[in-house]
Amino acid sequence: MLSDLTKSEMQDFVKNLGLPAFRGTQLFDGIYAGKSLSEITVLPKNLPIEIIESYPKYKIERKFTSRDGTIKYVFSFGDGNIVEGVLMKYKYGNTLCLSTQVGCRMGCKFCASTLKGLIRNLTAGEMLGQVLLVNRDQGGDAKSRKITNLVLMGSGEPLDNYDEVTKFLRLVSSEDGINISQRNISLSTCGLVPRIYNLADDGFAVTLTISLHASNDEIRKMSMPVANSFSISEIISACKYYFQKTGRRVVFEYTLIKGVNNSIACASELGKLLRGFPCHVNIIPLNEVKERTLKSTSREECYAFKDALEKEKVSATVRRTLGEDIGGACGQLRNQILRGEV
Ligand code: SAH
Repeated sequence: MLSDLTKSEMQDFVKNLGLPAFRGTQLFDGIYAGKSLSEITVLPKNLPIEIIESYPKYKIERKFTSRDGTIKYVFSFGDGNIVEGVLMKYKYGNTLCLSTQVGCRMGCKFCASTLKGLIRNLTAGEMLGQVLLVNRDQGGDAKSRKITNLVLMGSGEPLDNYDEVTKFLRLVSSEDGINISQRNISLSTCGLVPRIYNLADDGFAVTLTISLHASNDEIRKMSMPVANSFSISEIISACKYYFQKTGRRVVFEYTLIKGVNNSIACASELGKLLRGFPCHVNIIPLNEVKERTLKSTSREECYAFKDALEKEKVSATVRRTLGEDIGGACGQLRNQILRGEV
């Protein structure tokens, strides 16, 4: 697909089809403006079939706006698959949460994305497409960006699709394109340890976010199968390596699940694990998923957890919940749509 290509690769692609390089630039500009092929009016009518077939087929299928201004997008890719993205509006700018896979194979018990397993990986160009479509929907183009920050926290495990995700990071942060700095991109992972080392060694500088959700391996194994493959201490060693290589403070996500991981003893245990490491903990009340029995905690309990962490000198915030009325949690909306409820 053309959106998988860099600008010079796109120019080479059209040259190989017997067209001048500037046609590649026109295609590139159209793709980065979020346009469909017929909207790139500067192109000649009789385009080679190779261009028509490889032009991106992704589009915004549905759009839901929450009372708080959060917008949930449903993207389709021309093969019947759909994924979700969420645009969150903050004072400092707009953050897009995007998907890296259709479904997920990590099997976390609290997560809606993994209910039907992994359907397929998204390509770099399909991840980029989500950014370009929303940017256009918000009135932007490649030169005037309406998206300032990205979080890879939609459906999928980014490090389970390492090659395409890292290619996407290069494309989206390229000066030729939409040029979103890696410093403004968060990559969230359930902790595929060898890939964290790869990310550091391959020279990326994104904010690494770890979905920890437990203060010890026994608790973690209850809700996250990946904990059977990698221990918390292995994850923390990898994070320390990432910090040394990149200088980027690591963020830990901790979703509070009633009766599982929300005790003050858990907070103290977590505090002792993280104390002294330049990191931040995001505490999130579980967003209850219809198909799962796990229960959420009150905001008061979240604040008590935060206080206990701060006692251990670990910085923490309770995450504001956005878009709850529109199926804001990972994969919820896709499941509602697949069930024909919305
Ligand atoms: N696979 C990646 C990124 C996708 S999930 C990861 O595990 O980090 C993005 C974040 O949402 C993760 O921290 C995930 O654990 C969390 N999450 C998933 N389902 C949730 C739910 N029902 N309530 C609250 N957070 C949830």
